[in-house]
Amino acid sequence: MSVQSVFPQLELLLPQVSKPIQYVGGELGAVVKDWDATTVRWALMYPDAYEVGLPNQGVQILYEVLNELPDVLAERTYAVWPDLERLMREHGVPQFTVDAHRPVGAFDVFGLSFATELGYTNLLTALSLAGIPLEARDRDDSHPVVVAGGHAAFNPEPIADFVDAAVLGDGEEAVLEITTIVRQWKAEGSPGGRDELLLRLARTESVYVPRFYDVDYLPDGRIQRVVPNRADVPFRVHKRTTMDLDAWPYPKKPLVPLAETVHERYAVEIFRGCTRGCRFCQAGMITRPVRERSITTVGQMVKEGLEFSGFSEVGLLSLSSADHSEIGDICSGLAEQYEGTNVSLSLPSTRVDAFNITLAQELSRNGRRTGLTFAPEGGSERIRKVINKMVSEEDLIRTVVTAYSNGWRQVKLYFMCGLPTETDEDVLQIARLAHEVIRAGRAATGSKDIRCTVSIGGFVPKPHTPFQWASMSPPEVIDSRLRKLKAEINSDRSLGRAIGFRYHDGEPSLIEGLLSRGDRRVGAVIRRVWEEGARFDGWSEHFSYQRWVDAAAAVLPDFGVDLAWYTTRERDELEVLPWDHLDSGLDKDWLWQDWQDSMSEFEQDDCRWTPCFDCGVCPSMDTEIQIGPTGRKLLPLTPVNTGLKVPAPH
Ligand code: SF4
Repeated sequence: MSVQSVFPQLELLLPQVSKPIQYVGGELGAVVKDWDATTVRWALMYPDAYEVGLPNQGVQILYEVLNELPDVLAERTYAVWPDLERLMREHGVPQFTVDAHRPVGAFDVFGLSFATELGYTNLLTALSLAGIPLEARDRDDSHPVVVAGGHAAFNPEPIADFVDAAVLGDGEEAVLEITTIVRQWKAEGSPGGRDELLLRLARTESVYVPRFYDVDYLPDGRIQRVVPNRADVPFRVHKRTTMDLDAWPYPKKPLVPLAETVHERYAVEIFRGCTRGCRFCQAGMITRPVRERSITTVGQMVKEGLEFSGFSEVGLLSLSSADHSEIGDICSGLAEQYEGTNVSLSLPSTRVDAFNITLAQELSRNGRRTGLTFAPEGGSERIRKVINKMVSEEDLIRTVVTAYSNGWRQVKLYFMCGLPTETDEDVLQIARLAHEVIRAGRAATGSKDIRCTVSIGGFVPKPHTPFQWASMSPPEVIDSRLRKLKAEINSDRSLGRAIGFRYHDGEPSLIEGLLSRGDRRVGAVIRRVWEEGARFDGWSEHFSYQRWVDAAAAVLPDFGVDLAWYTTRERDELEVLPWDHLDSGLDKDWLWQDWQDSMSEFEQDDCRWTPCFDCGVCPSMDTEIQIGPTGRKLLPLTPVNTGLKVPAPH
């Protein structure tokens, strides 16, 4: 049966809302297909506003992969701002896709990609606007199958009541497999209804269907066990890994936004996975092993992506882009190719060494010199050992001074606060480092016209990392440390003037911590807080800490637990964690050992350059770590020699 566009009703509301253009679709790269000519239909959502959601690579890739199939249709939907939500409820307009403005409730599959858990309340808004029952158990065959993906899906337990399924890991092949199952099930006349479809998905062993698993609790609130409640589903669900990135050169036709968005560029992922082993970094852990895209595919994608989109900026993305074994050739090759054009190239620079500056120089041949960002993450050498971020103070100062000496005037340094074992002194060392950076930079350049911005994020322990057992510091502790840090930075007015200070207070991090390591009982908190009005929790102007605290206090005591139990409590080795039945490939014993090593301030090397230390991922994927198609490990560019003497730190 054909499905009507809701645009005629929506159009009447748009003059009354902010930024109406974000709801109209029609971007270059967008696809609209004939509903009746397709058999499997996906609505894809990034559960945030259009300006954040449109550039999301994951959604763009899946959108294109699915739409390349002639009998499959994929459309996008984003979170609507509260002004439009109110009007949609008043006028009975359902959650719609921006492509053909079809109601989300009419699709076969509603797939959401969660980069952060703070998007969970937007899931509930979208379900409710779509007319899809909030709880999966209340849905029938007329409703789409709601599937969660993205990094947060590695512990989907807090939203287990609201989603029908979750997919762990890379999505390209997973969406095709799900599509095949849905197509077949529909062709057979939908035998056994929704339950049978979910069962077929669960049997793939890489789609987690929470309703097929029961959670038992101990009297003290901890989990006793999570077990399948039927014989024909797997005990553990495994993540998907796309091994050959060259075979999946997406996006080929990047979406070009109509309204303003956070990134307007063509982004190419140059590799996936990271083996640096930063202990706080969930992305680095769950995306192993390292898989590189070849220099030829990267070059081809950039060429075709720019030709298609007309973008003038290219981002070479990954978790640590300077680590690609052919990054020197990639940067110099692209810089040469686009020299004299208006194309600018950028690399997210987080590695702290001079090599990164060499690359940045290559990429800025066209004259555009944007700020450089380095991420030492921890203020003291001791805490950097705890988190396994192998950067010495000397390296950091030398690197930043090299940047200043090569013409950069502005450098951003990113740190975290609230890390395990952290003391006030560890955080105050950030001020000393920043002072040193400015002092050394002024000495090396002879100029006072240099600045650095210290940016601080709150640490959130994440599932499938060595810090999954860690306690969080209460927000009062974080906020007090940050106040002291600010005072310390400004204690020397001459240096402090050249240092910007940006930070997030500790409260949103604590709630993110609740949602990251929560279990199914946390679903009741999410529902409660949403009913109390929570929307766009990732946005400071919408987030209300008190609303979350109140919701947690209202529902968690019934289960014998509370907010602190989920956040500031350290777990012990034998505790069953809510995500233990979800397999990221990492060995739990190895994670525990790495957690113990962290407490002893023992560093773990990068297995790209040193022998395997058995984290478990490669054998579970039946693969070996990929170090570039040429197998070359040496970085081909010579680091910049400025000839400048860098003053030793005090
Ligand atoms: S299994 Fe070994 S080589 Fe593979 S990612 Fe883990 S430590 Fe590295």
